[in-house]
Amino acid sequence: MLKFHHMQRLAQVSVRPVQVGPVTFGGAAFVVIAGPCAIESAGQFSRIAAAVKAAGAAMLRGGIYKLRTDPHSFEGLGEAGLAKARAVRDEVGMPFVAEVTDPRQIPVLGEVVDMFQVGTRNMFNYSLLKELGRTDKPVLLKRGFAARLEEWALAAEHVMKEGNSRVVLCERGIRTFETATRNTPDLAGALWIQKRLRLPVLLDPSHGTGRRELVIPLALAAAAAGLDGLLVEVHAEPARALSDGAQSLDFAGFAALMARLRPVLAAVSRPLHARR
Ligand code: PEP
Ligand code: MN
Repeated sequence: MLKFHHMQRLAQVSVRPVQVGPVTFGGAAFVVIAGPCAIESAGQFSRIAAAVKAAGAAMLRGGIYKLRTDPHSFEGLGEAGLAKARAVRDEVGMPFVAEVTDPRQIPVLGEVVDMFQVGTRNMFNYSLLKELGRTDKPVLLKRGFAARLEEWALAAEHVMKEGNSRVVLCERGIRTFETATRNTPDLAGALWIQKRLRLPVLLDPSHGTGRRELVIPLALAAAAAGLDGLLVEVHAEPARALSDGAQSLDFAGFAALMARLRPVLAAVSRPLHARR
């Protein structure tokens, strides 16, 4: 028994924790961030926020500025979404992360978010990374879809070199020859960079797979493997979502994810991050 416990400790990489309000990334607890791909309306976001909070999420997500491959698709509410996001964040009392797609958004978006997200398309945008390095807000840095691990590590370095060491990484899948899944989530790579940089690393199983039925099993694998948390897309009616419905969990699906995470985390001696 003692020996087994010792082995678990050896497997766990020690990372430098990053604090976002009441939430600690890279501490003992596993952190789940959940919410819609995009904020579509105040009512839509409010309903989803209440549901993910009730199911035990520690933090809220919701896109305001969306970089879409097809310019004719929904690009988020933009400026009109800022006040809506702020109101829901305050209503549920959870820290909130949203993507910043342009350095010019930093001052206004900074009034609304507790953490800036850098999306996969911007991991190589060094002027954005440097500007975020000069802010006092933590940064959730997603892996570029065609970025090598070393390039991802150096992108984090671009932020930290400017003085902001509060960086959390998120593996969201890379582009490979495979097309059955939207991306190829690289769990081994996520573990490699966690050990290399000693920064907290999350998995995004939603963009990682693009398929709802694969989100829960992949999320459980991340928890078992020793990653520090998840970024998950949830929608009240995924079939009607304006973006990424096929990979979004509905409320029952998210509750199932949270229920199934608990025994997996218990098996690796890790609690689920509680809300404050
Ligand atoms: C997102 O999480 O909102 C997102 C757009 O993801 P990615 O940048 O990984 O595609
Ligand atoms: Mn999305």
